[in-house]
Amino acid sequence: MSIIIKSEREIAVMRQAGRILANVMEVLKSNLRPGMKTKELDEITANELARRGAKASFKGYRGFPASICVSVNDEIVHGIPGEKVLKEGDIVSMDLGVIVNGFQADAAVTVAVGGISPEAEGLIAAAEGTLGAGIGAAHAGARLGDISAAIQHYAESRGYSVVREYTGHGIGREMHEEPQIANFGRPGTGPRLKKGMTLALEPMLNVGDWRTRLGDDYWTVSTADGSLSAHFEHTIAITDAGPEVLTIN
Ligand code: MG
Repeated sequence: MSIIIKSEREIAVMRQAGRILANVMEVLKSNLRPGMKTKELDEITANELARRGAKASFKGYRGFPASICVSVNDEIVHGIPGEKVLKEGDIVSMDLGVIVNGFQADAAVTVAVGGISPEAEGLIAAAEGTLGAGIGAAHAGARLGDISAAIQHYAESRGYSVVREYTGHGIGREMHEEPQIANFGRPGTGPRLKKGMTLALEPMLNVGDWRTRLGDDYWTVSTADGSLSAHFEHTIAITDAGPEVLTIN
């Protein structure tokens, strides 16, 4: 399989999906509070998507039971929303995929529940900055490895590790298209970036070691050492004018 180049029209549909996704994320953030169960975030997601005529990418994907992934504290990705109650000081990663008219958008944020520790605040800021560094490297004519290297450098130079077993990805009609985008690598390597490529960049940063552990539910991925983790993701398009973030409103 090769990297699929999208037309302007296809990117316009992905932009629509991205905008809906960003709007639903805003609703989720404004509803987040100590004492709520993570399954309430799933209910809000399902309702808000239905209201906007959009579908959740993750629901039923390889049997995933929910519309959104909710991963708390040392959980990195793929947490299943359920009976867990959020408390002041937690950090919550919400990862959402949206389908509109046959095209996908994918984004994630990590947010604070009430007041959080300086350690958690630093981690979230670094993870958001890391995504920005990756996006900043996503120019037509650059190479895929430039994105990976920018992500790794930004995170590690600030004292965080980047998760290695999970990657960003091409996205379009399918949630996961070519190429895989590692969150570590060497500049000047890999395929050349071209106008019309649409990519989901998603660094996951840990306070401790990069190694991961799969939970008993066979979905939830946590840090092996129990340290905090944060995850930021945007879907972008490579354009002649630079990277365009599609998952914003
Ligand atoms: Mg993704």
